[in-house]
Amino acid sequence: MIHSLRKRSTRSIASCCAVLSLAAASVHAFAQEGPRPRLPQPPANIAYDLILQNGHVLDDKNHVDSVMDVAIKDGKIAKVAPHIAASDALKAIDVKGLYVTPGLIDIHFHAFINPGERNSYAGDNSIPPDGFTFRAGVTTVVDAGCSGWRNFEDFKDKIVDRSKTRVLVMLNIVGAGMRGGKYENNQADMDGEATAKMALKYPGVVVGIKTAHYAGPEWTPVEQAVIAGTKANIPVMVDFGENHPESRPLYDLLTKKLRPGDIYTHMYSGLRNEQDPVTLGPSKAFIEGRKRGIFFDTGTGGGSFKFSLAVPMVKDGFIPDSISTDLHIGSMNGATKDELNVASKMMAIGLSLKEAVAEMTSHPAHEIKQEGLGNLSVGSVADVAVLRLEDGHFGFTDMVNGRVDGNKKLVAEITIKGGKIVYDLNGMEAEKWDAKPDANAPYAYRWTSFAPRVPVQRPSDNDRH
Ligand SMILES: [Zn+2]
Repeated sequence: MIHSLRKRSTRSIASCCAVLSLAAASVHAFAQEGPRPRLPQPPANIAYDLILQNGHVLDDKNHVDSVMDVAIKDGKIAKVAPHIAASDALKAIDVKGLYVTPGLIDIHFHAFINPGERNSYAGDNSIPPDGFTFRAGVTTVVDAGCSGWRNFEDFKDKIVDRSKTRVLVMLNIVGAGMRGGKYENNQADMDGEATAKMALKYPGVVVGIKTAHYAGPEWTPVEQAVIAGTKANIPVMVDFGENHPESRPLYDLLTKKLRPGDIYTHMYSGLRNEQDPVTLGPSKAFIEGRKRGIFFDTGTGGGSFKFSLAVPMVKDGFIPDSISTDLHIGSMNGATKDELNVASKMMAIGLSLKEAVAEMTSHPAHEIKQEGLGNLSVGSVADVAVLRLEDGHFGFTDMVNGRVDGNKKLVAEITIKGGKIVYDLNGMEAEKWDAKPDANAPYAYRWTSFAPRVPVQRPSDNDRH
């Protein structure tokens, strides 16, 4: 008995090694961008790599709100039409009953995780993006000010360049970034010129300037952030810090200090006179700010979202321009959880699905001036979310642990980044394990980041063990 057990376990170790070496081979194959000469090339007469069929497409930028097929080729959106034949693609997935949207964009995220700085957002308060993004349909996050011009390049090397998620960055106006109060309140380290210079060195990666957590009564961080944003032609996002209504009122911030196109985050926090105390709707500052073209963002985080503001303000029509999470260790398991939970929460208090999707796709892309993202235009990068709108009994909470009940919840079924499936909750793309491999299986590398069902033999694999 013992003998046979041992024998069996030896065998399972051996098969485990085979799986591992196959995994290593596939990692090797897929670490490279684009088709490589050694990989098998699909027949030239097959027009597309992947088609998502029969899904309800919600593409705010292109005003699409109907059942459509979406075809992808070479990592780009190739065609969106009422019917595209399955035989035109290497792979077709029937997503009937699901919503197909551009990959979601979360413009308030904290990703500069490193063990160096205890209890700071340029340290262990941050979280690794890939653990929180694809599983919520998110393909792009914007790190909101964890790094400043002094430590951005370290952040870029350690996190931005190593993440599968597209990580864009808002530079903190504080050169040292979010290293804690001692640094973040140091006016001497708020240098608009130096910040702009670093932003201009990395266009398309640095997409904004952040000011946050400032405790003092001065306007210095806002003024320097606007200098940096103006020089680099990117927006400023404001977390307005400690409330100083006499020396720096919200009204002045939104009507004088910020430029149209700048972003006010934590819009439903109630910490800085966002709400009119009489009507309970938006304050005069909010109303005037929106008229001027200031964008309003949820950034719900750990302590920045209250139903006592959000419910009456949404009822009043003051809905967000963008839905973001402000995810970090203090919000990932609390009321915020992830992007789709925040969206479902906003729907539970009055937003339509269409509005919520726009606020996670075309709107945030526009706010950060990355118009190539957040849409399904032909030629755009094929970042796609396939979402299920579940029916049931759900509860959503806020920063004071108040609850709203809802009967709908968004769940990500499939997430596609750059034309390849990076998340597939229920294996919709996979074949049954005992099915005969599909004729196109050798070309699976063209539509999925997961291991192909038919191993691809390459000469370089022979000397790998
Ligand atoms: Zn934040």
